[in-house]
Amino acid sequence: MLKLYNTLSRKKEIFRSKKAKKINMFVCGPTVYDFSHIGHARTYIVFDVITKYLREKKFDVFYLQNVTDIDDKIIKRAKERKISPQKLARDFEKEYLKDMKSLKIDSVTKYARATDHIKEIISQVKRLLKKGYAYQIKDGIYYDISKFKDYGKLSRRTVLQAEDAVSRIDETKEKRNKGDFCLWKFSKLGEPKWPSPFGHGRPGWHIEDTAITEKYFGFQYDIHGGARDLIFPHHEAEIAQMEAISKRKPMVRYWLHSGFLTVKSQKMAKSLGNFITIRDFLKKNSARVLRLFVIKTLYQSPIDYQERAILQTKRELEKIDEFIDKVKNQKLKAKTTNKKLKLLPKIESEFEKAMDDNFNTPKALASVFHLISRGNYLFDRGKLTSTDAKDILNFLKKIDKVFGFIFWKKPKEKISEKILKLVKEREKYRKLKKWKEADNLRKKIKKQGWWVKDTKKGPKLKAIIN
Ligand SMILES: [Zn+2]
Repeated sequence: MLKLYNTLSRKKEIFRSKKAKKINMFVCGPTVYDFSHIGHARTYIVFDVITKYLREKKFDVFYLQNVTDIDDKIIKRAKERKISPQKLARDFEKEYLKDMKSLKIDSVTKYARATDHIKEIISQVKRLLKKGYAYQIKDGIYYDISKFKDYGKLSRRTVLQAEDAVSRIDETKEKRNKGDFCLWKFSKLGEPKWPSPFGHGRPGWHIEDTAITEKYFGFQYDIHGGARDLIFPHHEAEIAQMEAISKRKPMVRYWLHSGFLTVKSQKMAKSLGNFITIRDFLKKNSARVLRLFVIKTLYQSPIDYQERAILQTKRELEKIDEFIDKVKNQKLKAKTTNKKLKLLPKIESEFEKAMDDNFNTPKALASVFHLISRGNYLFDRGKLTSTDAKDILNFLKKIDKVFGFIFWKKPKEKISEKILKLVKEREKYRKLKKWKEADNLRKKIKKQGWWVKDTKKGPKLKAIIN
């Protein structure tokens, strides 16, 4: 039985989709004006894993994500670079998709650009005007939050509390309430614009999501995800827009929010110099490190990024690699019997139970590591049969369809002369039984990215994937 923590009710609820075995899910996508950072990576890894798990459970998931390709930040950055906002947006959209590919995030069914849905956006603004939820002032069309009586039900804020938190972009003295937000912004000279019945302009940020979801899912759908800093005002505004138009509630049955990622306990900010882009991370580390690092924590909890934690994650990956290498490539001494490894069905059900409980990945991972250490124990005592080994590998393959960090294609690397020299030197010491010296060289080689393994046919090298 699948249970999800729903931000709307602040409770774990039994999951029931609108239509049996069909899930419509929307997750807020990027604003494409810069490279994505590891905080974004966390959010998108989280929803990638969630989607893949739901698909493993035989749900037909339509995973929709928007791409904000028009907004103030894009216009400002494009001006600085002396290129058109459209060119800037397309360039960074490409970079975003490249990053997603490197991270093996490939579960999104459709990416929908805001500017490809102007017609749908205008239609929503029109209906909000007609129903009396929106009004026009000098610089655009605004949503009157005092008209929507459920305003604040997601973030649990009142209209008055909303006033202090509004974005400065929407600041205008003509607004009816300070918390009112812009639906359609009239364009200034030289800014991108689209014709509309209200005047040339461009969409506000919140309206693009509801226009896109209405087009693909209709008035109501199953899951809306995003990082938790989007709860207010963004997701609150989405509810206000869609439920005012449709007069149906809830717009979304389950709201899932992923936790923050801090760097050394601080919020990531360019001014603090602790801003880590996905690109930067991948220069020094394999993408699988980031996947495991994210999966180790419950999706709702905060994560603190620290070098130490990344090193620890790499060690865990090494452990997994060594185990897989062992059972795959080394001769198993134990005879195959009809008796199957008793532990495996237990681990399988533990895994599913943990994932069904609001996607408790740390708990699910713990059972995987338990299986690996048990497998190691049996292997080292010559008690692991080839049937057991095969079953374990199949189980790991199955869960890797969800996690995507276990079986990783190793880049082919040429072994440098320097490394080969170190290996030869180490062999000399070994023959002289100078174990300490040999071991020091082994460590030196490991630092350069290679494991030395001593086999009957002499030393063998294996690349460390980090
Ligand atoms: Zn959004």
